[in-house]
Amino acid sequence: MSNSNTPHMQNFIDGAWCDARSGKLVEAKSPSTNLILATVTSSDRVDSQNAIVAAQKGHEILAKMTNWERSALCNRVADEMVKRRDLLARTLAEEQGKPIASEAYPEVDAAIAGFRNAAEMVKWMEGSVIPAETPGKRVISIRQPRGVYGIITPWNFPINIPVEYLAPCLAAGNGVVWVPSPSTAVCAARLMECIVAAGLPDGAINLVLGPGQSAGDEVVSNPGTHGIGLTGSPQTGKIVAQRGAGKPMLLELGGNGPLIVLDDADVAKAADAAAFGFYFNAGQVCAATGRVLVTRKNYDEVAERITAFANNLVVNDPLAISTTMGPLHNAGGILKTNQHIEDALAKGADLLSGGNLLAGQKSDLFFAPTVLGNVSEDALINIDETFGPVAPIVVYEDETELLQAANAASQGLATSVYTQNLAKAFQFGEGLQSGLVNINSPTCYWELHIPFGGAAGKDSGVGRIGGISMLNEVTQVKTITFDIT
Ligand code: NAD
Repeated sequence: MSNSNTPHMQNFIDGAWCDARSGKLVEAKSPSTNLILATVTSSDRVDSQNAIVAAQKGHEILAKMTNWERSALCNRVADEMVKRRDLLARTLAEEQGKPIASEAYPEVDAAIAGFRNAAEMVKWMEGSVIPAETPGKRVISIRQPRGVYGIITPWNFPINIPVEYLAPCLAAGNGVVWVPSPSTAVCAARLMECIVAAGLPDGAINLVLGPGQSAGDEVVSNPGTHGIGLTGSPQTGKIVAQRGAGKPMLLELGGNGPLIVLDDADVAKAADAAAFGFYFNAGQVCAATGRVLVTRKNYDEVAERITAFANNLVVNDPLAISTTMGPLHNAGGILKTNQHIEDALAKGADLLSGGNLLAGQKSDLFFAPTVLGNVSEDALINIDETFGPVAPIVVYEDETELLQAANAASQGLATSVYTQNLAKAFQFGEGLQSGLVNINSPTCYWELHIPFGGAAGKDSGVGRIGGISMLNEVTQVKTITFDIT
């Protein structure tokens, strides 16, 4: 039960903290202890509507500022995050469930760098001067903010993923209405405290805490927003694309990225990278390694090394420094993980490690790091994103089958290829239908300024976050012509 000492999380709309108009409250709980962390206001459409009106005002103020001035604002947010780094990391570990030392602090640091990165990049955005065919005409193009952005974010990286959107939107001069995942509302409010302390113009960024289906849908479908950014599942992506039809969309959706081990690979390096990609954030990562594709030649070594890595993980309280894997974030994740394991075993896979919930913890969301060998191609776990700590290894007779097998997937977000052969690296790098291909690095290798997003024709989304690509996404090209005759 909550009591008078329980923190209370509110919306931030038009420069002020406020509760939802309805007065409705929900409780935020820790996935590792089931303890109540805070009470949270629960908004609906009217709160999003108010935030959209405020964001339009905020946008108009931001748009009049120079890129240098908005850059300074972003740097001030980063400074405020540095001051609250411990609180942010602790909240992340408590509310999301990731290990504090190995993952929560690095996520906070990445988010701080995200504000600094946007602050830097926006100073160097350029337009162009286009030669005209007609005598006496001059043509220039400039980049301008689009207006108000609706940003909807998931629970798996609840500090860093929002910053991937908020920082470039702010730097470019857009007003923002941000609707985070309800299950990481405390993280969102703590991040918002840093943004508020930086002293942004009223309305520049508005936080609306509430369900995606109502508060989020309003932001997507309301004519007062001029662009949408969503990171979430492919299912939500399809709904958002329809409800916001006609608006510029950044959709960062699911992956089930394969790590491909070619015959000539450094097998130890490949297997360790795969294992890292399987269990980082307990597998709840869009760019997680979803499966390993390997030939019979290297199967035994890959299976042994991944199993050893899994067995060495310390699965425990996310606040303990020694913990290297925490709980899953929610019961839905446990259900899907179990279903995928059962399906794979029924189709002939070997259980090499794990496969069960861990007893003796304070919640029932701790799952053993699991390894499945000889997984069949038609197993659900090879086809669909699990979002849990399971390593499926799929074996092929010949490496020529591997490219086709990888491209048969409906997702195309992040893929790894391990090879020492430059020609093969290029063949796979260019031939894979994936927005990101990492040669000899884990699937989840990425840096903030590198373009990131799904391949065309797949279910992994549209548009590119990251660095200058993202600034281009959240701005529009304005062409101005001059007649000087
Ligand atoms: P989700 O789709 O359930 O929810 C994502 C967000 O959308 C939440 O804030 C939710 O409240 C909101 N939402 C839900 N229905 C909505 C609707 N009808 N209208 C508007 N908003 C709505 O996803 P999740 O479970 O929070 O996150 C996991 C998924 O996100 C996975 O599929 C993962 O791969 C994907 N993801 C992708 C990336 C990427 O960069 N491509 C990064 C992280 C996570």
